[in-house]
Amino acid sequence: MLDIQKIRADFPILNQKVNGKPLVYFDNGATSQKPQVVIDAISKYYQEINANIHRGVHTLSQLATDAYEVARGKVQHHINAKHAHEVLFTSGTTFGINLVANGFAAILKPGDEVIVSHLEHHSNIVPWQMLCEKTGATLKVIPMSENGELIMTEYDKLLSGKTKIVAVNHISNALGIINPVKYMIDKAHEVGAAILIDGAQSVPHLKPDVQALDCDFYAFSGHKMCGPTGTGVLYGKEEWLHKLPPYQGGGEMIKEVTFEKTTYADLPHKFEAGTPHIAGGIVLGTAIDYLNSVGFENIQKQELELLAYATERLSEIEGLRIYGNSKNKTSVISFNIEGIHPYDIGTIIDKLGIAVRTGHHCAQPIMNFFGIPGTIRASFSFYNTKEEIDALVEAVKKAKMMLS
Ligand SMILES: *Cc1c(COP(=O)(O)O)cnc(C)c1O
Repeated sequence: MLDIQKIRADFPILNQKVNGKPLVYFDNGATSQKPQVVIDAISKYYQEINANIHRGVHTLSQLATDAYEVARGKVQHHINAKHAHEVLFTSGTTFGINLVANGFAAILKPGDEVIVSHLEHHSNIVPWQMLCEKTGATLKVIPMSENGELIMTEYDKLLSGKTKIVAVNHISNALGIINPVKYMIDKAHEVGAAILIDGAQSVPHLKPDVQALDCDFYAFSGHKMCGPTGTGVLYGKEEWLHKLPPYQGGGEMIKEVTFEKTTYADLPHKFEAGTPHIAGGIVLGTAIDYLNSVGFENIQKQELELLAYATERLSEIEGLRIYGNSKNKTSVISFNIEGIHPYDIGTIIDKLGIAVRTGHHCAQPIMNFFGIPGTIRASFSFYNTKEEIDALVEAVKKAKMMLS
């Protein structure tokens, strides 16, 4: 069992009042809080080894380069990639998806098809729409059911020899639904299509094994898994990273430059133009170490308990509807109260110290499916407690009374 009070002491931001009330942070789906080891590691980098990487022969440059590459190795190990050079450091999930979508512009032809799902975040929709516009390919959408699950029989029907790439999230940010990605990966490969998994919402809760999954790409952000903002990873299978053209041109990504012709650097540098977020990459390694020290089994156990407790307690409230009732869910509850705009509830409970997300959660197609402007989303992390859920329930009851 986790000692939650000990865990909470690792996160200095949690121990404060907001609007005169103890902070209850339930917006972990938007970004997680950072433990002291992560905060300290950022200062330590700038205090002790700050220098540009992969360039200088001087000692600091070598120390910074080594630390950056050690962090890459930590990510490789964490997601079980076959090679360290299959791990590209990015600024986040959005960047990683755009990198792949941009690369596929060189591959797709009119008549080809790209498949996404109804459950995607805008950053796993828009880059593919832009790709289809550029190439004349067609975008197909896997439909969802009333309980928020993707309909696999419909997915099977969409797949064909025309399908070139499938892009789907591992876990939905708006509803917390866990998608059957292993099945989807195998099915995509049966028709010869590549598949990208958007792991932005999965990496805070589980340790993906990219070799066991056999996905071609896996994109995620550092800031939702206790790391700094502006950090992220795109995993790509070696053969695909060789096949795709570079995303950005600049320093670091070249072997030789003349005005006639430039040759590109080896992986992973081919995709890492310019000076990266060096401190961020290194400290993402620290965040991964921290999560592993807590242990993903412990994290999942605590979060699933919070999910069950919150689902039960919130269901006491009359007129409250939870969206996405699948059994395969992570610790996210998206809900509304009949006749009340989610924004109004969010504003009132913020006054009571409770931070939730309200709105469409960058997933408007899901809101359109349910015919609503948005939801109130409470997303729990392993450092949250049942007492905080009690505070949420009381606050929502109060807001409901004030608004109806
Ligand atoms: C947050 C999120 C993204 C975008 O991540 P950024 O860190 O903003 O680039 C993409 N997909 C899902 C499912 C997300 O939750």
